[in-house]
Amino acid sequence: MVMGTIRIEAQLAVIGAGPGGYVAAIRAADLGQEVVLIEERQELGGVCLIEGCIPSKALISAVEVANAAQAAKQFGLTFVAASFELDKLRSWTKSVVSGLTKGVRFLLEKRGVQIIRGRARFTGANSLDIDGSDVGGVDFQHCIIATGSRINELPTGYGLPVWTSADALNLPEVPESLVVIGGGYIGLELGLVYAGLGARVTVVEFHPHLLMGADHDLTEVVVRHSRNRLHNILVNSRVSRIERSGAGFVLTVEHEGKEQRLETAQVLAAVGRKPNTDGIGLDRAGVALDQHGKIKVDITGTTSAPSIYAIGDITPGPMLAHKASREAKVAAEVLAGHPAAFDNRAIPAVVFTDPEIAWAGITEREALEQKRPITVGRFPLRALGRARTLGRSDGLVKVISDPETKLVLGVGMVGPHVSELIAEGALALEMGATLEDLMVTIHPHPTLSEAIMEAAEAAAGAPVHTLTS
Ligand SMILES: Cc1cc2nc3c(=O)[nH]c(=O)nc-3n(C[C@H](O)[C@H](O)[C@H](O)COP(=O)(O)OP(=O)(O)OC[C@H]3O[C@@H](n4cnc5c(N)ncnc54)[C@H](O)[C@@H]3O)c2cc1C
Repeated sequence: MVMGTIRIEAQLAVIGAGPGGYVAAIRAADLGQEVVLIEERQELGGVCLIEGCIPSKALISAVEVANAAQAAKQFGLTFVAASFELDKLRSWTKSVVSGLTKGVRFLLEKRGVQIIRGRARFTGANSLDIDGSDVGGVDFQHCIIATGSRINELPTGYGLPVWTSADALNLPEVPESLVVIGGGYIGLELGLVYAGLGARVTVVEFHPHLLMGADHDLTEVVVRHSRNRLHNILVNSRVSRIERSGAGFVLTVEHEGKEQRLETAQVLAAVGRKPNTDGIGLDRAGVALDQHGKIKVDITGTTSAPSIYAIGDITPGPMLAHKASREAKVAAEVLAGHPAAFDNRAIPAVVFTDPEIAWAGITEREALEQKRPITVGRFPLRALGRARTLGRSDGLVKVISDPETKLVLGVGMVGPHVSELIAEGALALEMGATLEDLMVTIHPHPTLSEAIMEAAEAAAGAPVHTLTS
């Protein structure tokens, strides 16, 4: 067989096998579509499984155990100081990733999805070519683009061997010192991992606060805890130059008109991601981009080319795996003739720091910017039995509501396991719940979930375990 000479036909071609693409392929196949999935990587699962959500959370879990062992001193329980065997930690993380990527392949194959390894490029609104595969191209009725995003290159220090998040997740070594450029969630999560593994970590952030999307009352708890773990946090600071210095690096950092030099063994650049919209022939397919370089879509995921849908990181909105997967289901259902739309009220956000931060719906900052009147009910975890029994009472849950209708507009939280608790907030928003709905729902005792009920009571002016101000 001559490489790339065969063309095949498919009802649906999906490009990219991340949490957008593979979920779309599964849902469409279940709805009776004949699906071809094209992925240029060897493994399926995209950035999330291979170099994002999953490996980062595997490392975070390991460091959390070490932190919890240290914190157990308060219970009179003393462990010898934790030490990590990097080889074992690396292979454990890889085994978690490989188990999941194999699972994705199994699920797709069982649905009869044809998986093609290669790089897809549009040649028209109903056709694409594939590079690097036996199959030279696909003629399709519909296509879903789910090509995701890639790491932003550092504007300074180009060409130097600084780490990206993908490098850091491979755990090449634990450097004696590490400067993380970027105090967003990826920089902070990975910075705390390396601090937990023993590196002296400095985080440099251009903006005045870490985790700019989150409310300050939530981030300040994490900053307080991180100060004990990180060597330094520099905000309002810009890295203007990176140079080699022996085996390490020296960074020039500008802060309020002054320059300082930071010597460090390694640098991790975590300065955002950009959508993979270039080099895939979007112009030939008639797919238009917005002013931020993302693919324009309507609420069904349809692009400016009616036969082509787009989902995930390449479309407007936050770059999050669960947003990609929800959009995937919508697009697959719509092209299979079902009524569906991405009309979600909330895309929850979680930062897996220690403690964790999570929010859904409107934030206080957004309400202020929109000049929207709100009522905020806060419940501090120090007043919560379960948080006390865990020895983790630093944190809070807040419920933001409309002063007139009492509709829940937003939920924010910082504390242990809030990555799990936020789903109740997202459900409340999706169902159009009022404060009363949260208040009259019986929450099991003693659990962290009671904090949501208590925060709703505080917002309604009827708190039990706190006092009205
Ligand atoms: C370090 C890190 C941690 C993260 N943690 C979280 C988290 O905790 N929670 C969360 O929700 N999100 C997290 N994310 C973000 C999450 O990984 C992305 O939002 C998600 O992967 C986007 O899914 P996607 O399907 O749009 O694209 P991707 O996962 O990027 O998948 C796109 C796929 O398309 C393939 N591809 C691209 N172009 C072509 C082409 N022309 N032909 C064939 N194949 C192609 C790529 O190889 C890739 O496999 C994290 C990201 C990083 C980097």
